[in-house]
Amino acid sequence: MSAEHLYDCVVIGAGPAGSAAAIEMARAGLDVIVLDRGEFPRFRIGESFLPRTKRAFRRLGVLDKCMALPHARKLGVEISLGDWRHGSQYFYFRDVFGNGDKEAFNMARIHLDQMMMESAREAGAEVRTSCALRAVTRLHDGDVEVDTESGPVRARWMIDASGQASTIGREREQRRFHSFLRNVAYFEHFEGVIRPSGRGQNCFALVVADEGWFWMIPLDDTRTSIGFVARESLHRTLDVPPEDRLRWAIERTPVLRERMAHAVGPNQNRVISDFTYRCDPFSGAGHFLIGDAAAFLDPVWSTGLTLGLLGAEQAAGSVIRMLTGPLSLRTSAACERARHHAWTKRITDRAFRLVEGFYDPAFRDLLFSPKRTKTLERAFITLLAGEIDNIPFGVGVRCQALRGLCSIQRKRAVAARVRPFKITLASPVAMPPFAEAMPPLREKTPENSIS
Ligand SMILES: Cc1cc2nc3c(=O)[nH]c(=O)nc-3n(C[C@H](O)[C@H](O)[C@H](O)COP(=O)(O)OP(=O)(O)OC[C@H]3O[C@@H](n4cnc5c(N)ncnc54)[C@H](O)[C@@H]3O)c2cc1C
Repeated sequence: MSAEHLYDCVVIGAGPAGSAAAIEMARAGLDVIVLDRGEFPRFRIGESFLPRTKRAFRRLGVLDKCMALPHARKLGVEISLGDWRHGSQYFYFRDVFGNGDKEAFNMARIHLDQMMMESAREAGAEVRTSCALRAVTRLHDGDVEVDTESGPVRARWMIDASGQASTIGREREQRRFHSFLRNVAYFEHFEGVIRPSGRGQNCFALVVADEGWFWMIPLDDTRTSIGFVARESLHRTLDVPPEDRLRWAIERTPVLRERMAHAVGPNQNRVISDFTYRCDPFSGAGHFLIGDAAAFLDPVWSTGLTLGLLGAEQAAGSVIRMLTGPLSLRTSAACERARHHAWTKRITDRAFRLVEGFYDPAFRDLLFSPKRTKTLERAFITLLAGEIDNIPFGVGVRCQALRGLCSIQRKRAVAARVRPFKITLASPVAMPPFAEAMPPLREKTPENSIS
């Protein structure tokens, strides 16, 4: 890395989005450098993936590597209220419309991110870890310079994949936070969490309360990720130290208490902010934004990694089209910037609508209704599977119909209203301390950790 060397593209961040973009570009013969301020392996939250990610991993040629790492199958989503009222509702990926993958997997990110970073290196990208970007000193189409801890780097293009650090978004004050999705997550890894047999086997478990929701994600044969996402109304007012709030919530929630009766793990939790935002415009002179650097979305439907990989494919494609092939066939910077912005906006809007739906009581009424229309349910599952980049016409129409039903439900109940489970009103049942018998997967702290 010397100041004279001119790379085709500098990628900020070697997370899954940045590494995926680097793999694509390096394989296309471009001269790529990836800078990451962290060291690998490192901890990251975001461990449950969608079927659509399998296709993205397959395209990158890393799916077999993923499957060789410790992981757990994910066949669908089990949704229940915190006190089991209404039982569990199941949504299986086998019901997805179209030819997409019919299952997904969960995995600790420490394994996945290391593999992705190494794959970028193997593809031919120069990957520098412990090398933080300090400032962007020049940002024009075809002419970029950044200042890093190891000196200046020059490139034709920059892809910002710096995650929630959102280098460009913050610098240009482009980050716009969502009006109400301002949550905080409390989470840890445990052994010995009871896994359901029968219909809930191999499902991502989502447990819903009025003040937030829990995830239970099997990560491999024995380890389970447990998290509680608290809404702003709760996390701002709760008089409990942040590192004790996972236990506080579990002790008040029958479903969690039951499944964690024999859990082994840390007694205090980690904390991370979970504020939904977007950094619009998603491209500009000399650069493209991808992954969490472009937008971060409440993780209820596990969309983050999928959006990151798909955005990487788009941005890398833009750089490749501008820099390779016969000169007469190369596309213009203006055209590629506009294309990337429009694509990211379209996908982000769709994903935002999907997440906002979860927080709409009318949508929840329909989710728990025993009289669900199968064909509408399958359209919803198709989106849940991450098939949001190329929505088939029929799925789009059914999703519109579902939105229409929600509007009707809001005005007059066509499905029975679901009375929410309120954690703050539930009687706590004290649980003995969890035994700390497992080695933690806790390495580097993510940048939005607030513990
Ligand atoms: C509570 C919670 C639960 C989640 N659950 C899920 C889930 O189940 N499924 C899912 O798909 N997603 C989930 N997500 C979202 C998911 O974690 C993210 O979408 C995903 O990690 C984004 O990947 P990325 O590559 O964009 O960013 P990251 O993985 O964050 O990588 C960004 C990289 O940029 C580097 N970087 C930052 N600043 C600089 C700098 N100045 N210089 C150099 N390098 C820098 C960082 O070190 C980091 O390695 C969850 C998120 C949260 C908060």
